[in-house]
Amino acid sequence: KCEAIYQELCKSLNTFGIADKVKINQTGCIGACDYGPSLYILPDDIYYCKLVPQDIETIVKTHLIGNQIVKEKCYYDETVDKTYEHLKDIPFFSKQQKSVMKNCGVMDYYSLEAYIGSDGYHSLYNIIKEKTQIEVIDIIKASGLRGRGGGGYLTGLKWEAGYKSVSDQKYIICNADEGDPGAFMDRCLLEGDPHTILEGMAIGGYAIGANIGIIYIRAEYPLAVERLTVAIGQARDEGLLGDHIFNSNFSFDVEIRTGAGAFVCGEETALLHSIEGKRGEPSQKPPYPTDKGLYGMPTVINNVETLANIPMIMLNGVDWFRQYGTEKSKGTKIFAVAGAIRNSGMVEVPMGVTLGDIIFDICGGLKKDKSFKAAQTGGPSGGCLTCESLNTPVDYDSLIEKGAIMGSGGLIIMDEDNCMVDVAKFFMEFVQEESCGKCVPCRLGTKRMLEILERITTGYGVEGDIEKLIELGESIKVSALCGLGQTAPNPVLSTIHYFRDEYEAHIKEKR
Ligand code: SF4
Repeated sequence: KCEAIYQELCKSLNTFGIADKVKINQTGCIGACDYGPSLYILPDDIYYCKLVPQDIETIVKTHLIGNQIVKEKCYYDETVDKTYEHLKDIPFFSKQQKSVMKNCGVMDYYSLEAYIGSDGYHSLYNIIKEKTQIEVIDIIKASGLRGRGGGGYLTGLKWEAGYKSVSDQKYIICNADEGDPGAFMDRCLLEGDPHTILEGMAIGGYAIGANIGIIYIRAEYPLAVERLTVAIGQARDEGLLGDHIFNSNFSFDVEIRTGAGAFVCGEETALLHSIEGKRGEPSQKPPYPTDKGLYGMPTVINNVETLANIPMIMLNGVDWFRQYGTEKSKGTKIFAVAGAIRNSGMVEVPMGVTLGDIIFDICGGLKKDKSFKAAQTGGPSGGCLTCESLNTPVDYDSLIEKGAIMGSGGLIIMDEDNCMVDVAKFFMEFVQEESCGKCVPCRLGTKRMLEILERITTGYGVEGDIEKLIELGESIKVSALCGLGQTAPNPVLSTIHYFRDEYEAHIKEKR
């Protein structure tokens, strides 16, 4: 769809003889999924959306030549019956804090010049010229940045562990194996701002003493692979990757490895095995990858969003980063909001805003004015939050207190019509399918749980099934080998906790 809009725009600019007066930037996603394809006109700050190719000639004639706004193609918000012309006024955008996503949807993903023009690679230059490895690690530690992939481990501590591991060969890996159903934050960053990820990896490589970076990305993200490949080539051509970067002793290069899309390969040890050409199965930790990682060498693995934070922290400083967030969760977080929500898409907010702020203030509430029932955070590893949690600050620790997890940022909204037993069954089907089968609690335990859920939802549930689900779930949590199995029962246990009546109603409605 976007390609057709682009072609039509090129054609119209030529037809009206203004092709040399207008610069077109092809950008990644700006985040408003329900409003694409869109056209953002600068410096006017006018946002046209839900476009079809037939709209373009009118916009060129009326706006670009006639200086008049085409109001019927501007952003219409049905909740307040209002049309917004300027992007800065649209609540979906104006109530966000776009830091990590600041270039997404605005900057040409193929333009290294544009990235450098927005302070790109300045952080890398500054640290190579002015900072020691320990100084860089101390800055990241002081920032309080925690891993955005779900674990929430302090990035600075991970880098310190990688730095302290003594070896001639070290690696830094970008984990871009985004696999949670409903999560697409990493994809958006990789497609919209690939150089930020490369710069974050190079800074990490400098800090820990690695000269090779690997991006492990699922093959189902071909656009991201293509744009990263172009970005790597550009960076090499300009000496931003390769030997003696900025005429220093620091050499660093990045390569891409595509994974076949197994969810378990997002787990660090399985990811390492996959890159090594082995079966993508997790292994026991310790040893941790920072001690014994890829090919047995010290390896730091960071998530895409984590790495995208690095250049900005180095550029703007620790205080700038720490102004956002809560005491133990600093900075911003990107959420992929989907499900029964009016405005689905990518939302970046300071840690600590409430769930209600995201759902109602930014995303406009639920479709068709339905009632909010629950939000699933953290995908198949997470839990659900109910109406009572709408005022809960969204940060790592508050969500755990409520029986959910931050996860990587998937946020699926359920309305009054959603059956929570079906929701739990959906996630259990997913983890059953994705279980690598290495350990019994996960391989067989999740299968038994799924069988019980299937009989409950098809009217064959029996008394005692809920207790069996709880017993199985609790034992799988403590006995499974890796995070996939240890968290697999969470959606079931959490929905039983909050919506036990729905399970009981299914069991009572016997066939
Ligand atoms: Fe494999 Fe599941 Fe065991 Fe993890 S918990 S090793 S995914 S079987």
